Amino acid sequence: MNKDVVIIGAGIVGCAIARELSKYDLKVAVVEKDTDVANGISKANSGIIHAGYNEKKGTLKAELNIKGNKMYDTLSKELDFKFNRNGALVLAFNDEDMCTLENLKSKGQGLGVEGLEILSKEEVSKIEPNISDTIVGALHAKTSGIVSPYEVTIALAENACTNGVEFIFDAEVVNIDKMDSGYELSFKDGSSITSTMVINATGINSDEINNMIGENKYTLKPVKGEYILLDKIAGKLISKTIFQVPSKISKGVLVTPTADGNLLIGPTAKGVDSKGALESTKDSLNYILEKSNKSVKTLPVGRVLTTFAGLRPHLEYGDFIIEATGDNENFISLIGIESPGLTAAPAIAVHVKDMVSRRLPLKEKSDFNPYRKGMIKFSDLSLEEKNALIAKNPAYGRMVCKCELITEGEIIDSINRTLGARTVDAVKRRTRATMGGCQGVGCLLPISKIISRELGIDITEVVKNSKVSPVVGFKEV
Ligand SMILES: Cc1cc2nc3c(=O)[nH]c(=O)nc-3n(C[C@H](O)[C@H](O)[C@H](O)COP(=O)(O)OP(=O)(O)OC[C@H]3O[C@@H](n4cnc5c(N)ncnc54)[C@H](O)[C@@H]3O)c2cc1C
Repeated sequence: MNKDVVIIGAGIVGCAIARELSKYDLKVAVVEKDTDVANGISKANSGIIHAGYNEKKGTLKAELNIKGNKMYDTLSKELDFKFNRNGALVLAFNDEDMCTLENLKSKGQGLGVEGLEILSKEEVSKIEPNISDTIVGALHAKTSGIVSPYEVTIALAENACTNGVEFIFDAEVVNIDKMDSGYELSFKDGSSITSTMVINATGINSDEINNMIGENKYTLKPVKGEYILLDKIAGKLISKTIFQVPSKISKGVLVTPTADGNLLIGPTAKGVDSKGALESTKDSLNYILEKSNKSVKTLPVGRVLTTFAGLRPHLEYGDFIIEATGDNENFISLIGIESPGLTAAPAIAVHVKDMVSRRLPLKEKSDFNPYRKGMIKFSDLSLEEKNALIAKNPAYGRMVCKCELITEGEIIDSINRTLGARTVDAVKRRTRATMGGCQGVGCLLPISKIISRELGIDITEVVKNSKVSPVVGFKEV
């Protein structure tokens, strides 16, 4: 099967590139080792659309952060995902911090970041009454925003798919061979695909994929970020994203409402040896609580729902690498796409499209459809709308996830729509079922039964997230 472009990796970066390339007359495929999009770093991060004041002038990170941030208003309207430009506050606890904030403000203004202002303690407490009394002031970044990172990734992927991009899941690339024209990618199951161009968007594995063929060799150093997620009652504590003064490798521990209304605190920043080190640790969770308690008063720690972690694909070099080198000018590698990768993704996609246009003729499609309709969220509807929907489709009258109020109709939609869910976690990321107070205790089995029925597979074949996580019984692998 010959493609013009194969993108390896269905995270936010791969899906943003796929959607951008779907505007042109090209045969494009995305190959992904997992069963769904947004299963890597793009599902476990802070979800902040950063203003960009902290990036270094002249870097790709700075340029693409600022461009990407500005693209989110249009993107969220076209693709129907939640985007709230809620603004961020960077807190100062002493005079030295205040100097740092002044520096951040002028650095940001030098980069072209709009809406930066220094606020006094009194001004901060007027807009955020739950901020700690120990602050002396804050930097207000009005252009900062919040999204659900997996919702954005799913939206980009669905729209790319609608516009002709093929998505191939359970397809782990294990080898790349250069041919006379283009490349042959071999998958773990023995199959292969050929393509004129290849784009490596494999997040934490992008060094390994790059080193299979790229002229420059890289080694990523995973830096783990752990989080604590609190429920929606805690989510009302603050309205802005609250940072402390950043360090060299991290933007520091933040406290933020999420796009779905929860409260998120974290992350830590700890170098780890393994690319699979995603466990939560007592020390890190205590550290997050201690730091967050410094930012806000009366943090409701009794409202913790869950903990999770993500891995930053960190490069000592300090900037994003987006390159095609030497003899491999048709192999574009994206390496070290750590924060602000979520913010920058739409701008990264345009940057990569420009690189592709210097190698392949790009002809705009006359029938490109920029719009994608998000899922119906039953609990957001008026009573009249709910009744009308149930009359049309009684599945919307059967509540499956009683914590998040998700109906059977929504779960069926998540399975049957474009690039539909095939696992419980894929249903979760599309509907929020299992994300409430009971964390799936009440609805894991009912959801699994619906997946089994809709996909026509035995219940023992239904998995939570990967082939090794069956919901019912045990499976030999
Ligand atoms: C703790 C933390 C907090 C962050 N907070 C923010 C933030 O608030 N704002 C922000 O802008 N950015 C943030 N980021 C950065 C952002 O999350 C990442 O830059 C972004 O998600 C990277 O997306 P990606 O598509 O490159 O990687 P991924 O989402 O990991 O996607 C890569 C995909 O490649 C697949 N893959 C890997 N190997 C293979 C293979 N051999 N064959 C086929 N497929 C393969 C993986 O399964 C995965 O699906 C944060 C990151 C972390 C870790």
